[in-house]
Order: sequence, then C-alpha cells, then structure tokens
Amino acid sequence: MKVGIVTIGNELISGKTQDTNSSFIARLMTVQGWRVPVAISVPDDEGAIRVALSYCMSMSDAVVVTGGLGPTLDDITTAAIAAAFGLTLYTDESVLANLKERFKNFHLKWTDNNAKQAVFPEGVETIENPVGSAWGYFLKKDGKIIAVVPGVPSEVQRMVPESVVPVFRRKLETETSYIESRTIKLSGITEARIDQILAAVNFGTLGVDIGFYPSFPEIQVVLTARCASEKEAKERIKKAEICVTEKLRQYIFAYDQDTLEGTVAKLLSEKKLTLAVAESCTGGLITDRLTDVPGSSVFLERGVVAYSNESKKDLLDVSEDVLRDYGAVSEQVAVLMAEGVRRRGGCDLGLATTGIAGPTGGTDEKPVGTVFIALADGTRTHCRHFSFRWGRRRNKAITSQTALIMLKRYLEGERAHE
Ligand code: ATP
Ligand code: MG
Repeated sequence: MKVGIVTIGNELISGKTQDTNSSFIARLMTVQGWRVPVAISVPDDEGAIRVALSYCMSMSDAVVVTGGLGPTLDDITTAAIAAAFGLTLYTDESVLANLKERFKNFHLKWTDNNAKQAVFPEGVETIENPVGSAWGYFLKKDGKIIAVVPGVPSEVQRMVPESVVPVFRRKLETETSYIESRTIKLSGITEARIDQILAAVNFGTLGVDIGFYPSFPEIQVVLTARCASEKEAKERIKKAEICVTEKLRQYIFAYDQDTLEGTVAKLLSEKKLTLAVAESCTGGLITDRLTDVPGSSVFLERGVVAYSNESKKDLLDVSEDVLRDYGAVSEQVAVLMAEGVRRRGGCDLGLATTGIAGPTGGTDEKPVGTVFIALADGTRTHCRHFSFRWGRRRNKAITSQTALIMLKRYLEGERAHE
C-alpha cells in the first residue's frame, strides 16, 4: 500500500517551523510496511491544497493531511478540501456540543469562531481528538481514503497511530497480512558504519525490510516483516534481530519504546541504588533526562550543575590546588566531582561531567569537544576521556548520552571504562 502525505501551513514553507509531521507520519507508515511515494508541504492556500491533494492521490492509495483545522481565519483546510471535491459543508452538532463542553471544562470563554471546528465536508467520518480541540476526519474518494488531522505535532502523534493506521489497515489491506516490527536503538556509531556492517546480512532473504532513522545522538534501526501469519512475521523479525544484535551488540542500548534514561532508571531501581549527578558541560541535561522518567525520585538524590570553579569547590569539594594544577576540564577534576557529589549526597553512585562544549574555550592541548566523564561507587572511580567533534548543542547531547551509557554498562556488571 502507498500512503501520500500533505502538510499544510504557511509557517512550514517560510522556514519558521520545521515540518516534523511528515517525518513522523512517513516513519509510522514505513514501519507498517507501507510505502510513502510522496510528501508535500503547501501553504494555507486553496489552490495549492487542491493541486497537492490531487498529485498525492494520483500516486497513493491513501493520503494523510495535517494542519489548518483551527478556528482562525488562516485555517482553511476543510473549506479547500470541500471545494476541491465539490462537497458542501455541514455543522456536526455532536462535535459542536463536545467542543462547548471542552471549553467549559477548561474554563475557556467560548467565541463563535470556534464553531468552525465543528464544520465538516458532507459524507466524512469524524476522528475524535483525545488531546486537542480540532477533530479530524476520513474522506473517501475514487476508492482512496484521505485522513485529515490537525497540525499540532502532539495531536498528530496520538491521532495518526491510534485512529488513522487501524482504519487504513482495515480498509486497504487484505485481512490475512500481518505486520511485525522491531526498533533497535544504537549510539556511538555512524549510520554509514552500521550500513557497512549490516551489508553482510541479506535481509531480503530473511523476508525483512530494514530502515535507518537517525535522531542525534541515537540511530534507530527498524526491522519490519509482513506476512500471512503472525507466527511467521515474529519468527522473521527474531532472526533478523539476532543478526543485527550479533554484529552491533556494543552499540545497542534499548529496543522499541524503551529509552536510555528509562533503562538506566529501571536498573537503578531494581538494584536499589541511589545516584547523585554533578554536571559541568552538560548543564543539567543528564538530570533532565533522568527526571523525565516517572518515579525517578526513588533513585535520584540530586543533580548539581557546577559550572564555575567556585561552585566545584563549594558544592563538590574539588580542591583549589587540583583546579589550578590540572584545569577544570581534566580527569582529576571529573574524578573529584563524581566522588564529591556522591559523598555529599550520601549516595551509592556519583556521576560527573566536565568538558569544553565549544565553540570557544578550546586550546591546543584541550581542543573543543574534550570531555571527561567519571563514575564513582565509593570503592573505585572510573574516568573516561572523550574527544567529540560536534557543535555545542550536540556535544552536550552526546556527552549526556555517553555518561548514561557508562552508567548503564556499570549497572549491567560491565566495567564502566569498557
Ligand atoms: P489547531 O486547532 O491547534 O489550530 P490546526 O490544524 O489549525 O490545529 P495549525 O494551526 O496548522 O493546526 O498548526 C498548529 C501548530 O502546529 C502550529 O504551531 C504549527 O506551527 C504546528 N504545525 C503545524 N503543522 C506542522 C508540521 N507539519 N510540523 C510541525 N509542526 C506543525
Ligand atoms: Mg496552520
């Protein structure tokens, strides 16, 4: 099956907003085993919407449209679609009542322009929005299905997987086909290198499609099998997964919906260990990621951002002498930071980062990207030295990733410096 994508919004083609809906939907469709032959972004303009829709329909069995369903004047998607297909518009009374109720519950003042969100082209099947006000709808035309949803990415990310994919599957797939997929998450390796290593595996023979989805600092490898029985699909995925795991084991940190911070949190909770974090160059990013995990208070005692020399002395007991002799970005300071935060927090483990994120601050001896990460457990302190080569934001991201991987490996019983 082929699924086209149309994203609508002036902001998408003026460079103001990055079109993340296309990539999200494209990926979701690919994971179902469907192909995306075309994805187009157009402004909030009736003519452009009509041409884009007709072009996408000429290449696909189904189309997903996002954006322009809001109450404001510039949101014209529904009117444009109705005009393109020669359909009249009607107000859906139950959606209108639902909208008014929603406004009441959120203590928002109802204004009449909101009624626009209860207007649909005749003959559509509405799609409820579990996280926002604009409902979506399905429209059938020439044996094809068009799903129209709001543009807000968090709404797209609920409505398309939960409501659109099942309908596409039911209406356009043979009942016997079954799809199984597995996402393998890696870091510390480039996409090109993964491709090179996996070139030895013939995924075609295994009956599995493979796709790469880099999302810095991770790369996701997605395996998809589509066959007549669930058992067969699962077996194919298992075989392909074993091949990937054998070849790339040291880079894999999670599968499917699991995250690195979630995995670390689970390990810390299971082992009943507590953690204190001292961050210099990561500016709190490690603590931010760990506190994204519900229940992190069980293991996370504190996260200290110690950016200046003074704060490293005050909050972590790093000595003046060591700072002077070795500099703030050094193995010696990273070790003292990890030990200091562990001791001050009364925790089992202390994790610390210090480095030069850039673009300034580098020297010949310690260029931009020089990072030290230390992990102290009260008996020993492991410290590793890294040379990252990305921009500031990415250096911070990769440092937080590497620190969490060091912690994960330690918790899994491997030596932290391996
Ligand atoms: P609403 O009811 O919230 O107004 P809507 O369908 O009208 O929904 P838009 O007004 O088009 O949606 O967009 C809402 C928000 O989502 C805007 O901030 C917009 O920039 C963003 N957005 C829209 N389309 C995309 C997209 N393709 N990728 C990323 N962000 C998008
Ligand atoms: Mg818009």
